[in-house]
Amino acid sequence: MTERIVLRGLKRVDGTYMDLVVEDGIIAGITEAGASRGGDIIDYTNTETYVSSGWIDLHVHAFEEFDPYGDAIDKIGVEQGVATVVDAGSMGADRIGDLRGQAERAATNVLALLNISKIGLMRTDELSDLAWIDPAAVREAVAEHQDFIVGLKARMSRSVVRGSGIEPLKQARALSDDTGLPVMVHIGSAPPGIEEIVPYLQRHDVITHYLNGKANNLFRDSGEPLRVLTDAIARGVHLDVGHGTASFSFKVAESAKRHHIPLHTISSDIYRGNRLNGPVYSLARVMSKFLYLGYSLAEVVASVTTHAADWLKKPELGRIQAGDRANLTLFEVRKEPIELTDSEGDVRIGHQHLVAKGVFANGKYVACEVRPEARH
Ligand SMILES: [Zn+2]
Repeated sequence: MTERIVLRGLKRVDGTYMDLVVEDGIIAGITEAGASRGGDIIDYTNTETYVSSGWIDLHVHAFEEFDPYGDAIDKIGVEQGVATVVDAGSMGADRIGDLRGQAERAATNVLALLNISKIGLMRTDELSDLAWIDPAAVREAVAEHQDFIVGLKARMSRSVVRGSGIEPLKQARALSDDTGLPVMVHIGSAPPGIEEIVPYLQRHDVITHYLNGKANNLFRDSGEPLRVLTDAIARGVHLDVGHGTASFSFKVAESAKRHHIPLHTISSDIYRGNRLNGPVYSLARVMSKFLYLGYSLAEVVASVTTHAADWLKKPELGRIQAGDRANLTLFEVRKEPIELTDSEGDVRIGHQHLVAKGVFANGKYVACEVRPEARH
């Protein structure tokens, strides 16, 4: 027998209302609010519950066993209203199959960027020994896990590369050209210097942590973006927030907005430690920081839906369309003060924040855990 659920009176980010009908996990109908009949009706009328396509977090660490950079998939996925997570290089060729095995048991959709270091984040200086970059192993992993691996990851900062300098990035570039997969490059402290790193990136490659407040970042002290950044944007390089424990600065984000640097994807760089103790907590909390910065709700939601889906070349994950498997996030915009802390310890008070209420991931509904202090 068909399971038919009518989600009545949901609000779109453009302010209009609709009913959504989900049958056996497939979006079966989209109508005016109040017009859908039959099945189990869940009535959201007068609750100001928003719906968007399922949120996508383009930078997470989803391999539970790893410490510090790991966490349980559904804790950082569906339980936070995130339908799809992209693991950003926790795994290299040695153990990508282990992550895939866990992904298959999770409710959250999982995709992965393959660390060019075969050991992945088993240790946090994974590019300090060039022997850990094994091009043949990368090619084999990519061939074996074609529908799982969506790109490569290279972490280009001092504590990761140590004496290897820029060499890992040269190899990442070659592997990207070879496999046809884009590379996400993590930036942080020098060496290597930022002006040496960015010119290697091409259209569809990603700079993650682009709003970090470290000395080696993409902005001058005056707030002016570096030429390497504006050049990279012009040639189609993708910018990803990757908030993390140490990589998001309000001051830098304000400079970026003032200088009209485009907002491509908001992502969390979430793992156990920064989920439980902050400053990340959740993708919703990171998104709320961009509402505080003055981006519209539509811009903020697009940065975790259409923009991420377009980068993934999976448009079906970024739209609400009859016939598609349901990937949806239901959320509220709570109009109440919220303390927002960046990675530099800078605290701001926002006047509204996002709270995930539920999510359909790959057709299955999961209610979200609401943090107790967020209830009232
Ligand atoms: Zn990360």
